[in-house]
Amino acid sequence: MQIYRTIADLRQDLKLARDNGLSIGLVPTMGNLHEGHLSLVKMARKQCDFIVTTIFINPAQFGPNEDLQNYPRSFEDDTTALESINCDAVFAPNIEEIYPFGPRLETLVTVPSLSQLLCGASRPGHFDGVCTIVTKLFTICQPDKAYFGEKDYQQLTIIKKLVHDLNIPLEIIGIPTQRETSGLALSSRNNYLSAEQKQQAAILYQSLLQTADALKNSSGLNFAKLENKALQKISIAGLQPDYFSICHTNTLLPAKPSDTELVILTAAYLGETRLIDNISITFS
Ligand code: AMP
Repeated sequence: MQIYRTIADLRQDLKLARDNGLSIGLVPTMGNLHEGHLSLVKMARKQCDFIVTTIFINPAQFGPNEDLQNYPRSFEDDTTALESINCDAVFAPNIEEIYPFGPRLETLVTVPSLSQLLCGASRPGHFDGVCTIVTKLFTICQPDKAYFGEKDYQQLTIIKKLVHDLNIPLEIIGIPTQRETSGLALSSRNNYLSAEQKQQAAILYQSLLQTADALKNSSGLNFAKLENKALQKISIAGLQPDYFSICHTNTLLPAKPSDTELVILTAAYLGETRLIDNISITFS
């Protein structure tokens, strides 16, 4: 497995791979890899010939009061894990390689409507930072397929939209959320939690499951009431909920009773740590 620090070196080897007829799979990450990230790489390994995992903590997607400085870093362990599952290349550029003039960019990629909802409402500019780095990684690597987790459902929806709207010739593959046995979605930010807090945080997935069950088992339920009930449960468990919303799968707008494809999304703070989760439901 080769580690690349510069765009030029990576591009040179990706061109060789393409010239040899190999398909390219891209897995963008911010490092501190866990089984969730590795499930993306494993799927890429099954579907593509040459796999690039990127490790880059993107300053442009962090707000001024967010955890950029403290974001967990574990480069040695990450590369060991990637090598063990036969990743071909790691692209780990420094900030100047990606943002030679600083991360306050003059060119931004933005999907305004979807980016202002849900997490976007509490994290202004976050998704513009995500869309811009992801577009840069797409043009740097020109992959055939790129892999993203359903754990970040809003991010996945926005990236699918930008790829479609900008006619970027690649396929976006969404991968199911990997969880601890408690149901807590794996996340690099779980590193900030004590063992006790991790148990507490499992309320997020429990509330999503209970709401999904309620929706599946009875018709005509009032969505706002269900949302409020879940918000209360999350508060009682000691978290500060940001939102708990039953939405349409593609638009992420509040779901209507006639919608057949729904996603329930939630975000909450446990102390300083922001946690997100979601589940999708389809009615036939
Ligand atoms: P991050 O390093 O947090 O930016 O995540 C990199 C990629 O891994 C994103 O596409 C995430 O959605 C995905 N990911 C993070 N956590 C999980 C998880 N628990 N299950 C599946 N994918 C995940």
